[in-house]
Amino acid sequence: MAKPPKFQAIRGTRDLLPPETALWNRVEENARHVFGTFGFGEIRPPVFEPTELFARAVGGETDIVSKEMYTFADQTGQSEEASSLATRHSPLATSISLRPEATASVCRAYIEHNMQQLPQPQKLYYLGPMFRRERPQKGRYRQFYQIGAEVLGGSDAPAIDAEVIEMVMTFFNRLQLPGVQLDVNSIGHAADNCRRGYVAALKSALEKVKDKLGADSQRRIETNPLRVLDSKLEHEQPIIETLPRIADHLCDDCKAHYAAVKCQLELRGVLYKENWRLVRGLDYYMRTTFEITAQGLGSQNAVCGGGRYDGLVELLGGPPTKGIGFAIGEDRLILSLLEGLKSQGGSPNSPLAAGHSPLVYIAWMGEHVCATAIRAAKDLRNAGFSVELPPTEQKFGKALERASKLGSRYALILGDNEVAEGSWTLKTLADGSQQKFTEPELLEFLRSSRG
Ligand code: AMP
Repeated sequence: MAKPPKFQAIRGTRDLLPPETALWNRVEENARHVFGTFGFGEIRPPVFEPTELFARAVGGETDIVSKEMYTFADQTGQSEEASSLATRHSPLATSISLRPEATASVCRAYIEHNMQQLPQPQKLYYLGPMFRRERPQKGRYRQFYQIGAEVLGGSDAPAIDAEVIEMVMTFFNRLQLPGVQLDVNSIGHAADNCRRGYVAALKSALEKVKDKLGADSQRRIETNPLRVLDSKLEHEQPIIETLPRIADHLCDDCKAHYAAVKCQLELRGVLYKENWRLVRGLDYYMRTTFEITAQGLGSQNAVCGGGRYDGLVELLGGPPTKGIGFAIGEDRLILSLLEGLKSQGGSPNSPLAAGHSPLVYIAWMGEHVCATAIRAAKDLRNAGFSVELPPTEQKFGKALERASKLGSRYALILGDNEVAEGSWTLKTLADGSQQKFTEPELLEFLRSSRG
């Protein structure tokens, strides 16, 4: 038989493994808890949707839709047999895409389930994988994970913008994310014309300095002038500093909205920095935009991006609906937390140190002991303790060696004598001390030492 190829995860994708997955779980539990305290409920949309949904919502001209989506043809409305290999690529096929982000899906679900008839606003959060064919590097993957939330319906009161930002900051504080910085901006309102006026002024200023800009920025003058402000190129920085600023072009309503958002953030004790160059890459944003950066991430240091998108639900065929939301890059959040733990020398309370090792290793030997060992493992696990039960008996010396290697705190020694006497020996591996317990006493002891 031919030798099988050496399979590897596809470029830009990766396996998340223990013990790191313990940290992922802790992050997700905290997100669920904190978002719950702000009245958000979880939504789990599918990971693929019609390509048209993303083209409309995110914008056909964006890099995400034009270059980065995983798109394929699928048959709809046909039986399984009809969608055989031969017809899979027929023109009847519907184009579907793996989701590059989830806001579009949440808005689609809001419309599909008539959520505008429920009490407004609807506050929803999601967690899960997203897919973008980007150039992989540290903090940038082709399958990556986002934790996001959306507030749909109700009013566009600045307090809603501020509360959403406060929620993310509360979550990051709880995780003790190192070096968090919140940047805010307002990018005006398409309908009030203030954004259009600004984009025109920006474009004409950019035309004047076009020769001094790099190829990407030159192209963006035509396709999306706001994106020039995102440039990280060293030689473009002094030029960008001289460009017109959106704050000088906001209409009165947008100005008042932005001022009120900042005031609300202050009332909530949320520290922020104004950043006039903060424009979001996606077409649907308006007014409030924000981005949060953290430490230890190099050039890909944004852990969260968000903003207001009042026109999006309508654009997707729903009623006029206010909307604001954010997406946190979970991979980057974890990278930053790991960097933080590393620089503290890995605190003993770190989720990487705990959670994975068994508390109790059952060192059992003897034909008649097997049944007791199985029952002991079951009872301890039912009481919530983690237990390693070796599948075959081991000499006690070898069992203790393995228990230490796994990082267990205790070895429960079960031999013929212990079973006959109904008195079990618990060895504390750190200092070698031993104590004898009946089974109920053992449970009581472990419960009280859980603290
Ligand atoms: P966006 O949906 O582009 O606004 O991104 C929101 C957040 O998702 C960013 O701030 C990043 O933290 C994260 N993110 C976006 N693209 C990637 C990627 N390719 N790999 C890892 N994280 C990403």
